[in-house]
Amino acid sequence: MNLAPNLGTAEPGTPATTSLVSAVNLAKQFHGRKVLDGVDFDVAAGEVSVIIGKSGSGKSTLLRVIAGLEDPEEGDVTIDGVLVRSGGARTADWNHGAAKVGMVFQSYNLWPHMNVLDNLILAPRKILGLSAGEAEARAEKALAEVGMAEHIRSRSTQLSGGERQRVAIARALMMRPQVLLCDEITSALDPPVAAEVLGVLARLKQEEGLAVVLVTHDMAFASKAADRVIFFSNGRIAVDATPDEAFHHCENAELKAFVDAVR
Ligand code: ADP
Ligand code: MG
Repeated sequence: MNLAPNLGTAEPGTPATTSLVSAVNLAKQFHGRKVLDGVDFDVAAGEVSVIIGKSGSGKSTLLRVIAGLEDPEEGDVTIDGVLVRSGGARTADWNHGAAKVGMVFQSYNLWPHMNVLDNLILAPRKILGLSAGEAEARAEKALAEVGMAEHIRSRSTQLSGGERQRVAIARALMMRPQVLLCDEITSALDPPVAAEVLGVLARLKQEEGLAVVLVTHDMAFASKAADRVIFFSNGRIAVDATPDEAFHHCENAELKAFVDAVR
């Protein structure tokens, strides 16, 4: 029996490649239907993964389980080397791992009665106990990273959809995550605005080394900016490949039909 840690194909003496997020055998049912059917899913630091697949195939549920918004029946999740979920249940170290994961939604979820600054500092002040000054400094930096510095005092209701989504990304950055889970964040936006928002994600990867997991129908972004394309089907990962392999050399008939239908 081989008791050595999983070193992949690395030469002896070189460090093992460690995943930032490693989920093993995630299983989740709704009303007796398997929405996650034994999913293994890894995210490396600084990697952009795009998840595609039909509506109802389980993409959002996967992100929600990793973010802790949903509990699976089974599965282990390790985040930055810490086991945060074991046999489906949260471990005592849950908070340590969860802090490294941010999530952004299609619907922005900003508070309409608050300005941008207050939307950003609410959670970090409460959860991290930051002072008003510390939180505001963090907010200025996060807004600068998404190109929204001049809107710090705007009300979210005064912003366009693309601006709101950039603020929502900045809000997620406030907790200094290492991976950003993005669930169809450009689906409500016009294509040029969507491209700008996705450009922000590509820049965050380049400049901050942020890992991004993006559920999207935007095949152009997937082709250009993704390190990996993951095709989800019936609660399982059917294809996990480079964009070139997935879009041009993949024999999976279901993926081909999906890509043809979306294009
Ligand atoms: P996708 O994001 O790929 O469209 P989802 O993960 O949202 O798929 O949903 C997968 C399946 O699980 C769908 O059939 C959906 O109706 C069902 N589902 C998701 N969340 C819930 C829930 N909270 N309660 C009941 N059914 C749900
Ligand atoms: Mg979804």
